[in-house]
Amino acid sequence: MTMTLRVAHLYPSLMNIYGDRGNIMCLRRRCESRGIAFELDALSLGDRLEARAYDLVFAGGAQDREQRLVVDDLLATKRDALVEAIEDGVAALAVCGGYQLFGTFYREASGVELPGAGVFDLHTEHPGEGARRCIGNIIAAWDAPGGERTIVGFENHGGRTRLGEGARPLARVRHGNGNNGEDGTEGAVYRNAIGTYIHGSLLPKNPALADHIIALALARRHGDVALAPIDDRAEQRAHAAALRLR
Ligand code: GLN
Repeated sequence: MTMTLRVAHLYPSLMNIYGDRGNIMCLRRRCESRGIAFELDALSLGDRLEARAYDLVFAGGAQDREQRLVVDDLLATKRDALVEAIEDGVAALAVCGGYQLFGTFYREASGVELPGAGVFDLHTEHPGEGARRCIGNIIAAWDAPGGERTIVGFENHGGRTRLGEGARPLARVRHGNGNNGEDGTEGAVYRNAIGTYIHGSLLPKNPALADHIIALALARRHGDVALAPIDDRAEQRAHAAALRLR
């Protein structure tokens, strides 16, 4: 039976800074190269999210302005189904601004506090317009299922994220800032939901993480899925080159 990865992309035209839609392109290629069908729905303002109909929900990054534009809709038309689906094992990948809005709140640079979807037990506070931004290349150590691996990319955020008891970090910072530039954590994991500050796009430069997310997303309907190796020498070269950017 051909498997299908069914993906919901939230606010693709509003939350897509630094090329985060490259994550979708990477997931599609890594599925279709293995004969796994790939279905994508773009859900924006006013679109209800039937989250259980998907294997993976994706949200990219955004400036404070776009986050303010989407937050009411996120809570009104998507939050309840999203939280329920995450509890049911649906996977998620939320990057930067999307990651922040998947927490409990994001206090933006203006001081306005945006409520979050509450997928992750975390909150984010921007220290203000004039504050140092967390910008630059980032290298982090991810405790992957088969042992520690590096994940690489770049970050550009003002917000500082603090994890609560209910969230564990995706990785430990080796170079760069990560969640807040202080506690050495990067990103968050809760059940099959992953949040991260890493742009790049993240997944093309981190093929092992991409495959981990695909396997997580397919497991809910197909059980443990062994993904056949594919030719990702270009991705591996990009990863190795990024490691040299310390
Ligand atoms: N606007 C948020 C911040 O500055 C997120 C930025 C982003 O998505 N790169 O922290």
